[in-house]
Amino acid sequence: MPRTDRPRPSRYTVVSATSFRHPSGRVVRPVFHTATTRVYLVDPATADRLAGGPAGGDPAGEDPASDQRLVDAGLLVDAGRDEAGEVIAAGRAAARDRRVREFVVMPSAYCNMGCGYCGQAHERGAVSGDHRAALAHRVGRAARSGRYDRIAVRWFGGEPMMGFAVLRDLSRRFVVSADEAGIAYSAKIVTNGTLLDARKLRALHRECRVDSIEVTLDGPAAAHDVSRPLKRGGGSFDRIVAVLAAALRDPELDGLRFVVRTNVGVHNAGLAEPFAAALAGAGLAHDRVVCYPAPLHDWGNDVADLAVPRRRMADTEIAWFLAYQRHGLRFGLLPSATRPVVCAATTRHSEVVGADGRIFSCTEQPLVPGQEKADLGDVGTVAADALRPVGAFDDWYDAVDAGETPCRGCALLPVCGGACPKLWREGSPPCPSLRENITDRMDLYALTAGYLPQR
Ligand code: SF4
Ligand code: SF4
Repeated sequence: MPRTDRPRPSRYTVVSATSFRHPSGRVVRPVFHTATTRVYLVDPATADRLAGGPAGGDPAGEDPASDQRLVDAGLLVDAGRDEAGEVIAAGRAAARDRRVREFVVMPSAYCNMGCGYCGQAHERGAVSGDHRAALAHRVGRAARSGRYDRIAVRWFGGEPMMGFAVLRDLSRRFVVSADEAGIAYSAKIVTNGTLLDARKLRALHRECRVDSIEVTLDGPAAAHDVSRPLKRGGGSFDRIVAVLAAALRDPELDGLRFVVRTNVGVHNAGLAEPFAAALAGAGLAHDRVVCYPAPLHDWGNDVADLAVPRRRMADTEIAWFLAYQRHGLRFGLLPSATRPVVCAATTRHSEVVGADGRIFSCTEQPLVPGQEKADLGDVGTVAADALRPVGAFDDWYDAVDAGETPCRGCALLPVCGGACPKLWREGSPPCPSLRENITDRMDLYALTAGYLPQR
């Protein structure tokens, strides 16, 4: 009689079709469990079991002890379990019960660059004194509420370093509030990097408690300087790279980490090798520097001519990883953490504050033409104690649960979270390249661990 209580493979178990052989003779296939972000190299029989059996059949000779180990790892689950429902419920609870209060703050609405693919409309102007006071008050009330363990600030723009004085002033007030409340404080900044220097980096790190800086470099010097031109003219690649390299040698900055993002489009997709060589040559192959390629995406502006088609982007991403690897640059091959809260727009414990003091839920609303009316109030008028007012994407977990998007049935849901509610609702599926190349990445993991593909 067939057994009905036999555990089945978790819907979040992804099994590569490729077999690898270690020089010792051991043959394995890579397995990635998106619900725990653990990667395994398992023997072929186990891989078959996790893939649902050879050709989808029911493998004979099952081993209960082995099955139990797979159950313990979450790779096999009870047949009746609603794993997607559990992931969505965990996301909903994480968004509701968050112990970190996040403020995404735009100290300046202006940018000193004029990138062709940017969807923002930049305006001169920084946060006014009144708005600064109101925002500092709001952060202070959150810090003292007893509701949070940490205040997390993300500086972005425009170009946030155009508002460096504002950033510094607000940071000082935020840090005092968190310290007085006895809770933690952390900050990161997303910047084009052109206005950084040693003095500002020290102020950012030591006074403003910024511990992570994300800069964008769009290729080796010539390509970057064309892709990301300064409005006043001239390039910036060499200067940015030199500042980062010097920062890595500065003992006063030894807690500061860097993320190097490359916006990849048709113009630079093939430049992974010279880019990685240039970064490594400058000394950025370092444990405190992580690189990643990001496909150009649509902010509502039309970048169709610039973007790399989805399937090709998945292959391009692997080519960039290989180039990073060849040159010793650090990068995240597979997700290392689940993403229960997909973004700021899906939790009322996060808010985006524009340079004019207006509050938004989504980072792609301030400064983006067509989103002018997406604000939810103003730091001066929203009650200082209140959570962010409800935004357009706070129903996200219910929407995913109800099948508004295909995410409920997707094996990547725990690590992807649905990617971007705004893009889904604009009719532009935001699935990351990971969806296309997850098994390629798993195979690269096996290669890195010293295994060779079995012919
Ligand atoms: S956005 Fe795409 S890849 Fe992410 S969970 Fe939804 S369907 Fe899956
Ligand atoms: S909805 Fe999309 S664009 Fe807006 S914050 Fe979330 S991920 Fe970013």
